[in-house]
Amino acid sequence: MSAPRRDRSRSGPWLLTVGLAIVSCTPADPPRVEQRLAPGVVAVESQRRPVPAANQGWVELADSVVAFDPGTPNEARDLLQRIQSASNKPVRWVVISHQHGDHADGATIFAAGGAEIVAAAASRAEFEGWAADAFARSVQDERRGYAGLQWALPSLYFDERLVLSESDPRVEVLHFGHGHTPGDAVMWLPEQRILFAGDLYDNGAFNNLANADVDHWVVVLDALIALEPSTIVPGHGRVSGPRELGLQRRYLAELGERVREAIAAHQSPAQFRRELRLPFFEEWTGVPAADREYDIGFSFAKRGVPYEFPQPMSTRRKAALAAVSGLALAGAGFALHWWKSAARTEG
Ligand SMILES: [Zn+2]
Repeated sequence: MSAPRRDRSRSGPWLLTVGLAIVSCTPADPPRVEQRLAPGVVAVESQRRPVPAANQGWVELADSVVAFDPGTPNEARDLLQRIQSASNKPVRWVVISHQHGDHADGATIFAAGGAEIVAAAASRAEFEGWAADAFARSVQDERRGYAGLQWALPSLYFDERLVLSESDPRVEVLHFGHGHTPGDAVMWLPEQRILFAGDLYDNGAFNNLANADVDHWVVVLDALIALEPSTIVPGHGRVSGPRELGLQRRYLAELGERVREAIAAHQSPAQFRRELRLPFFEEWTGVPAADREYDIGFSFAKRGVPYEFPQPMSTRRKAALAAVSGLALAGAGFALHWWKSAARTEG
């Protein structure tokens, strides 16, 4: 029977294409789900796996809309579209929780529509410094959705508290000092007890301590807990109640305490990591605390003990690895198909 031979010649390139597609393709639009938290109050929650993208949200006021965390430029375009299909009021403000690009870079999309960009004054140096440089690199590297965009600086800085709306609903923007970054801002709706927390609170093993004040972050979380929010939109991960916000505080407090003890006892970071057990963290996030190497490393480094971080894989190396994996997968698929065809021919 000649069919298997004909199949082989046709399906080789097809399998190669599929193999490459499986490995190299990331979903164009990772799942983003709207959570209606109260009338006119919406969170857009990323459910991307394994690490969710940043969450966004908006609040509809009497005559305008305030958006929180535009996300990347493409996420900002998506957010704007969602707002416009829910309301015909203009977006008057976009509040940025902090200057990390996955939360802030899309602000330019809202600025182009005339929105005021709101950020904590303590973040000004970052916005005018390395964040602007990082954005320019993303435009130059032609990252998805960045082509032709201009960096938009915040146009309205506040020190500790800014009331955007007195009522219907009341909307406050607050800054409690250096936590995840020097200029973290949260959005607080006291009537609904809803808190948009940015990366001060990630619901899962998604923390980034690179720009953090690891001790004061716990103080900031105490201030957020003292607001007594009933619903909290984290920077990354699922919208939650206060229990998980408490776990975030517990994780950073216990990790900090253990690291301080280890430094006092002259324990090496490597030995500390081998022995670290935080069962509540693993139960909450599904990830053993010892696997959070960057959290541990920054916890030592920011307390004056050098830590040798693993070298991050370069983008080119990742792309090369993906291509090689794709070829391997396609090759395996082709071999399997050939083997089955040959078996049928022989049978
Ligand atoms: Zn961040």
